[in-house]
Amino acid sequence: MKTIVRSDERILTSDIFDRDRKEERQDLGAWQEPGRSVPIYRRCGVLVVGGGPSGTAAAAAAAKEGADVVLLERYNHLGGLSTGGLVIWIDRMTDWEGKLVIRGFAEELFDRLPADAVAGPSRADWGSRDTGKAGYWSNRTAAYHGVVTWSPTIDPERLKLLSQEIVLERNVKLVYHSWAAVPIVEGGKVKGVVFESKEGRMAIMADVVVDATGDGDVFARAGADFENDIEEGDVHHCMNTAWLFGGVDMNRWIDFKTGQPDQHAEFMARGRNELGLFERPFVSWRNDIALFMGPRQSGYSALDVDDLTAVEVRSHRAMAAHLEYFRKHAPGFESAYMLYSAPQLGVRHTRRLKGVGAVRRSQWPDGVALGDEVGVTPAVSPKFPNISIPYGALVPARLDGLLACGRHVSCDPNSHGFMREIPQCWITGQAAGTAAALAVAQGVAPRDLDVGTLQAALLRQGVFVRPQTETVA
Ligand SMILES: Cc1cc2nc3c(=O)[nH]c(=O)nc-3n(C[C@H](O)[C@H](O)[C@H](O)COP(=O)(O)OP(=O)(O)OC[C@H]3O[C@@H](n4cnc5c(N)ncnc54)[C@H](O)[C@@H]3O)c2cc1C
Repeated sequence: MKTIVRSDERILTSDIFDRDRKEERQDLGAWQEPGRSVPIYRRCGVLVVGGGPSGTAAAAAAAKEGADVVLLERYNHLGGLSTGGLVIWIDRMTDWEGKLVIRGFAEELFDRLPADAVAGPSRADWGSRDTGKAGYWSNRTAAYHGVVTWSPTIDPERLKLLSQEIVLERNVKLVYHSWAAVPIVEGGKVKGVVFESKEGRMAIMADVVVDATGDGDVFARAGADFENDIEEGDVHHCMNTAWLFGGVDMNRWIDFKTGQPDQHAEFMARGRNELGLFERPFVSWRNDIALFMGPRQSGYSALDVDDLTAVEVRSHRAMAAHLEYFRKHAPGFESAYMLYSAPQLGVRHTRRLKGVGAVRRSQWPDGVALGDEVGVTPAVSPKFPNISIPYGALVPARLDGLLACGRHVSCDPNSHGFMREIPQCWITGQAAGTAAALAVAQGVAPRDLDVGTLQAALLRQGVFVRPQTETVA
């Protein structure tokens, strides 16, 4: 087990647990797949592959700009990790002064989610440095560095439903239970994908494909360049299946954690010792539901089917072991029960696109709005100004007919720490969907799209973008 120490670069502190020994796979030869004719299921302007936060935002934005859109998702719901992965803690959408910088699609979602589906500080408290308020919210996902932030927890079922209804209202053709398998590429341009479903193999042809799979499934197989580096000391590459315990009293747990720090430290040390894989609980949108987004397991690849299986097996066992331990020893967990384990495995990083641009660590201190800015992200600490997200981070250095959004956009490993968070995925998704729709309408390649036109469209959609070069205070 390794423990990460918090720093400006390492925003998450956490225990990391090493993998089990890997079973060697034997070389059993190959079977030659015969060629066959694949029926075309649909032709469209914009095909979005993957219905996570970024893909949902992309489909909604492309349809808003008038495109004929298909959204293809392998599971039975939208929201990706933010719903099916039980990552129900939406990271910071305000900057360190309390100003909302993650806007557009994110704002639409929070305006429409029912009040009892969201738990977080009221708008009046965003940016507050009041020690009482910051102390209260720091135990409830919404204060860091002594500042209250807009980083609420949400009800995943409500977010699934709302995401689905938004895209359907805009006449997006939604296709669940369908796994994009092979990109159709001609002359260096992506022209669609072949997908697998219970009906077998079918193709969707599109003018522009948006890869929102999180793992770059489409752009990697289409031949784009990408990075897949691993940083052993960071949570970055760790995986886990998240889960929820019901029947808890999180206020009592927080009273124990904050009021009896020595006993809490003893509880944590004993848990690590007895269970091996061990994780702390976080609050959810309800006091009687606790969220576990770990134990974070290191040394596995989310592109290896044996590793994916191994992490699921270990995580489900850890869930049962935690229930027993927490029921016995954790105040507030005496009547806990296993409510739900995530149907989507928690993957933070596999591939990152090599784009014509990128979000880079060297940008953090300067606060400059890049000329091709499509959104703005809050910085990791109050030491830095807001950070500009360029359109180039979505455009492959080498591949046409495709844009990327979400956790596999072009950025360096440090910047990936925040670029992969849900709010940033909404931002890059909305930008990619809008750009794809405009490129189709104008009959140009996404890389040749006029950025001023894209920025104007994003501003109309309520996104926070600064169209000309300026320096942020
Ligand atoms: C354990 C953990 C904790 C995290 N904590 C936080 C946090 O506290 N706050 C925060 O804001 N963020 C957090 N994150 C990050 C965040 O959840 C993800 O990075 C974000 O959801 C990524 O969004 P996305 O749209 O890029 O991809 P995903 O959410 O991964 O969605 C991708 C979608 O594409 C679908 N898909 C994939 N491949 C295919 C295919 N070939 N064909 C069809 N469909 C496909 C998937 O089924 C999925 O629905 C955490 C992540 C993890 C794993």
